[in-house]
Amino acid sequence: MKLKEIRSMICDRLKKAGIESCEYECWVFLDWLLSVTRADYYLNPEREISGESMRILEEMLIKREGHYPLQYLMGDCEFMGYSFHVDERVLIPRQDTECLVEEVIHFIENRSREGEREDRIRVLDLCTGSGCIGISIKLLCPDVDVVLSDLSRDAIDLAAGNARKLGAPVTLLQGDLYDALDNLPLEDRSFDLIVSNPPYIPTGVLKDLMPEVRDHEPPMALDGREDGLMYYRRITEGARRHLKEGGMLFYEIGADQAEAVGDLMQCHGFTEICVRKDLAGLDRIICGRLS
Ligand code: GLN
Repeated sequence: MKLKEIRSMICDRLKKAGIESCEYECWVFLDWLLSVTRADYYLNPEREISGESMRILEEMLIKREGHYPLQYLMGDCEFMGYSFHVDERVLIPRQDTECLVEEVIHFIENRSREGEREDRIRVLDLCTGSGCIGISIKLLCPDVDVVLSDLSRDAIDLAAGNARKLGAPVTLLQGDLYDALDNLPLEDRSFDLIVSNPPYIPTGVLKDLMPEVRDHEPPMALDGREDGLMYYRRITEGARRHLKEGGMLFYEIGADQAEAVGDLMQCHGFTEICVRKDLAGLDRIICGRLS
């Protein structure tokens, strides 16, 4: 089959399957499975491709037509410029979450500039999943100590693989939110900064998510229980025990959760509460200082 025929075949089939980003994904398929970049394609769209690579292409295309997420098919996902391994054990890192990491990094850099600190800044990433938040923070700010935790043993195993692959020396702990810290020496259980992108979709809304998410991403990484706020409640309530004085809490939130999460934070002694928007202009990040 000629490259140009393959390209229109992929694009048509993805479009028929209802995949909106079919144009973009078509280029991804060509590059990933046939090693044909956009430039290669335009240099010689008449090139014939056959054999094993066409068989694999067909196999992957069938899965994608069934709305299996592209990132799980490829086995990795780019986040903050790093390549994270992903599979069905963890949520696929979202671009919006990069805004959360940027806010945290901005804070750490300002804090480091404020003057000589004797102790290292300690960061806790709760509900770490693939590890994308905590590992990126460690890679971009190597002088901070980062602890990652998740309830899922599978997620911790996968995050450990990512930390190893990307060369990020972090501490990984399995357990239910702060309970995971029981495995650390007492003096290591307090932090300057807690960051989390917890599950925040109300249970009743899960069934309306796109099939890629609803049918393939781990429900425990999405389900924020009845009102979607269960993890914000539990993390905010427990924060005082694990944040140093003046410590910061950073969350990713759903677009309509800023007020509710802001109120929760205020109730539990947080001040200087700030909400930031994502690239689409929706409320996405909230942070506050424990006073
Ligand atoms: N912290 C991970 C991420 O942001 C996982 C989040 C989750 O499982 N809710 O991708």
